[in-house]
Amino acid sequence: MIIPHSRPMIDADDIEAVKEVLASGHIAQGERVREFETKFAGFVGTKYATAVSSGTSAIHLALKSLGVGRGDEVIMPSYVCSSPYMAALHAGALPRIVDISDSDFNIDVRATRRSITSNSKAIIVPHMFGCPADVDELLEFGVPLIEDCAHSIGAEYKGKKVGTLARVSVFSFYATKIMTTGEGGMILTNEPEIHDKLREMREYDGRSLDITRYNYKMTDMEAALGTSQLRKLPNFITRRRHLASLYSERLSQSKVVLPTTSSYKKPVYYRYIILADQMEALRTSLRNMGVMCERPVSVPLHTSFPPIECPKSNYVYQRALSIPLFPALTDDEANYVIESLTLSLKKFE
Ligand SMILES: *Cc1c(COP(=O)(O)O)cnc(C)c1O
Repeated sequence: MIIPHSRPMIDADDIEAVKEVLASGHIAQGERVREFETKFAGFVGTKYATAVSSGTSAIHLALKSLGVGRGDEVIMPSYVCSSPYMAALHAGALPRIVDISDSDFNIDVRATRRSITSNSKAIIVPHMFGCPADVDELLEFGVPLIEDCAHSIGAEYKGKKVGTLARVSVFSFYATKIMTTGEGGMILTNEPEIHDKLREMREYDGRSLDITRYNYKMTDMEAALGTSQLRKLPNFITRRRHLASLYSERLSQSKVVLPTTSSYKKPVYYRYIILADQMEALRTSLRNMGVMCERPVSVPLHTSFPPIECPKSNYVYQRALSIPLFPALTDDEANYVIESLTLSLKKFE
């Protein structure tokens, strides 16, 4: 048995939805994009939505919509992919990297407070692996937040969906995310001024030489897939939570550290992260049994130049392993993951 680390869940409805757009003759940004924006904003619960080409272009435009530019500082956690880092640099800003918290894999509130200066213009807050960050504490600093919900569509914080908690929020629909359009992203806000700026920057104006604009549009093919996937999103999330509870139950006696959360956070388990002292050996052993696991973050941002002290991020980086969890994973496959993991850990005793 070979169990991949991740696999998108595409069914006949998804294929039909894309086929229809292809046959219609209108494949670039049009009605299907509008429809997807409306439905997505409806699901998360904001007034406005702007669909774009990727999560990275979403962060870039979100930063620009808040007026972030040259000389400004953008705070972000170390333990995240390079996308927010790149987006801040593309906006002309300086990324300020801070450590993560003890309790989960999210940005640390106290470290954030210490890194705020008069140049801080935004804090990018990824809800890592589907678990909400401590947004209320972060909002108290008065620096605008950008919620990065690439891992966490549908997750809840104190009874509210993530993506509704800050002035702007961004999403990614890359192939292996919670739901997919192949490549794609979304920016949500309740502020009309921000929304207008985003719409303007998303496409270039053919009649002027305005260099403050980009071509970050989504296609109608992608949007049709997005709308079709959105219909199944509640089922995807239910399935992810079921698999996570199966793992947590069956691995509770093992020697690895399992994910934890607070009662007021409802994660969607984009990833199931375990911490193990012999992570690399464990990963190899699992691979030999056909269970593909990954390091959830391959280059933590504090290793950028010049390197920054982030002991917690470093600790997690050396031990974290993401085990297969995706809606298409069957219970039998999940049980095989559990058995392989248990057998592998026995070898190290
Ligand atoms: C995937 C991801 C992004 C970037 O999204 P792309 O669509 O790949 O550009 C940004 N932030 C986080 C936390 C992500 O997981």
